[in-house]
Amino acid sequence: MPDVPQPAQQGFSTRAIRAGQEFDPSTGAVVPPVYLTSTFVQDGIGGFRGGYEYARGGNPTRTSLETLLASLEGGTHAFSFASGLAAEDTLLRAVLTPGARVVMGNDVYGGTHRLVNRVFVPWGVELTTVDMTDLDEVRAAVTTGAARILWIETPSNPLMKISDIAALAQIGHAAGAVVVVDNTFASPYLQQPLSLGADIIVHSTTKYLGGHSDVLGGALVLSDPELVEKVGFLQFGVGAVSGPLDAWLTVRGIKTLAVRMERHSSNAQTIAEALVGHPALDAVYYPGLPDHRGHDIAARQMSLFGGMLSVALKGGSTAARSFAESTELFQLAESLGGVESLIGYPTEMTHASVRGTALEVPDNVVRLSVGIEDVDDLLADVLGALPKS
Ligand SMILES: *Cc1c(COP(=O)(O)O)cnc(C)c1O
Repeated sequence: MPDVPQPAQQGFSTRAIRAGQEFDPSTGAVVPPVYLTSTFVQDGIGGFRGGYEYARGGNPTRTSLETLLASLEGGTHAFSFASGLAAEDTLLRAVLTPGARVVMGNDVYGGTHRLVNRVFVPWGVELTTVDMTDLDEVRAAVTTGAARILWIETPSNPLMKISDIAALAQIGHAAGAVVVVDNTFASPYLQQPLSLGADIIVHSTTKYLGGHSDVLGGALVLSDPELVEKVGFLQFGVGAVSGPLDAWLTVRGIKTLAVRMERHSSNAQTIAEALVGHPALDAVYYPGLPDHRGHDIAARQMSLFGGMLSVALKGGSTAARSFAESTELFQLAESLGGVESLIGYPTEMTHASVRGTALEVPDNVVRLSVGIEDVDDLLADVLGALPKS
């Protein structure tokens, strides 16, 4: 292996481009090749080259993504999966046993709630949902009924609620829980949960890490040796791994994460500020606005405020639907975090699975994933699509 400098000592953008990305030693190819192979020749029985045996257990392209993610989040290990939910499933299996309790925010990603509520609860797991911004409520919930997992997602979706990771990690640990942070919305460029006390980071790499809306993926990043061992075993033993092309595309996306997040954040900040006080709107939800609830915590634990914002329309669901269907640059689609701007109507799209539960989203809310196009064009698109008073 070529001798590369210790990644942890370098800056974020340098690591985003170099960690796990050694050039190919046999040809000098600057970009490591995609290893499209399911198995590896052995030099005699058990003589593995670089430890590779069969691709469910490991593939060099997946290793390069995992090395990169561990470096960016400051964990000793990362494991990549076929989707964010596949990563979550592996984590839940690694930590839970029947009778164990999960405490999670009442505003977590709908698919996360569905996975626990519809897959794990029938297997004997218990689920409590709480308001993560209310530390007393969280403390009571993790203490009563001994929580095994405290699951935090911040900023949350779609109202951009901010939870205090450091304070929650202390509360979780005092109760003996494993503290998980879904860092999908912030990305490691804006927020580093392990350094704030979390035990495990979950990512849907489908979003900002991949960044180009062209590949699904998920990841876990952690340092605790016992959990590393369990998660590593289940990644191999259950097998929801990412394929080499998916891993390669994700690595390619991550190289520009820093510059993309800067632009996502500045575009969203500009649009949010321009929308405050608009006559068609009841509220603008963006953590970068000084009077957003949780702004001070966000300013402390995030370096910038990200590219996601939501608005509540005065005209109720009719106005919200019409707005979501009227923009042009903001395309009507699920998902987020790509270079192109997207718009969504959560109650019938991303959050349809939680209608009628405590996680239900108001029907006048529209969510914007602000891309990295020219902000003047994006703002004109939004202003043109809002109802005229
Ligand atoms: C999309 C998303 C997930 C699920 O990831 P998939 O890649 O779609 O499986 C989990 N958490 C958050 C916050 C997400 O936005």
